[in-house]
Amino acid sequence: MGSHKPVDLHMHSTASDGRLSPEALVDRVVSAGVELMALTDHDTLEGVSAAQTYAAAQGIRCLSGIELSARWARGVVHIVGLNFDAQQPDLLAGVAQQLAARRQRAQRIGERLERAGCKGILARVVDAAGTNGAPGRAHFARDLVAQGWVSDFQSAFTRYLKRGRPGYCAVEWATIDNVVAWIHAAGGKAVFAHPLRYGLSGGALRAVIQRFVECGGDAIEVVSGGSQRNDVESAAALARRFKLAASVGSDFHDPAFRWSDVGRLAALPKDLDPVWLSL
Ligand code: AMP
Ligand code: MN
Ligand code: MN
Ligand code: MN
Repeated sequence: MGSHKPVDLHMHSTASDGRLSPEALVDRVVSAGVELMALTDHDTLEGVSAAQTYAAAQGIRCLSGIELSARWARGVVHIVGLNFDAQQPDLLAGVAQQLAARRQRAQRIGERLERAGCKGILARVVDAAGTNGAPGRAHFARDLVAQGWVSDFQSAFTRYLKRGRPGYCAVEWATIDNVVAWIHAAGGKAVFAHPLRYGLSGGALRAVIQRFVECGGDAIEVVSGGSQRNDVESAAALARRFKLAASVGSDFHDPAFRWSDVGRLAALPKDLDPVWLSL
């Protein structure tokens, strides 16, 4: 198989809601002994070329990557794109549309939270995310913690940012069909990200994965940061059932979150087909 070199194909930088610059992220990946990585920021390609250039100089391979938000039923799922042509026009147009939706949502979240009493939050978040940034709920969560509105990051989501809470705003993300088509137009692989993180029942999860398969999706993330053995087994069962290749990724954001550090990943079951072997 030759699939045993350390691989991590899902991580974030300051180009979206990660804490490390693309270069500092690559340094951490190298220190962790990972030899094949992908930078997969939310709805942006901003950090990709810097990560690839710096990774090549450090002697490791960095695939082009992105994590696209896609609407499903009343919710959202995440589709990771890997190893595409980052200049392809359909992909660039799709990403531009997603980024515009993300920035508009940030304005609305900011207005809502200001009304709820969190003064100045929008300006601070826009500043923290950067002019070319991809502002997300994690930026709002950090500000809510920093200002003492909540005691920790998780509570920012449960009290302010999740559906039904004062800072929640629905977004018209692209469909699963759209995002898979953009990734494929650019010659990449589409990966259904962290299947166990959506809080879906077994039946609802199988329905959305069925849709992903119908759209031509290629792989499913079987090992995520913090995955326990039974999580890996549940996700592996989905890969087998839907005949999808398997991916692995820490979903690293922040060095303070040790459970999702780069390269800290459980082993992939040996019968699965690793998506990176064909890349
Ligand atoms: P967004 O795409 O801006 O809606 O934000 C999604 C991101 O917020 C995820 O990638 C995580 O970084 C973070 N996130 C979402 N829900 C939670 C949660 N319950 N606890 C901690 N982080 C979360
Ligand atoms: Mn995130
Ligand atoms: Mn995600
Ligand atoms: Mn992610």
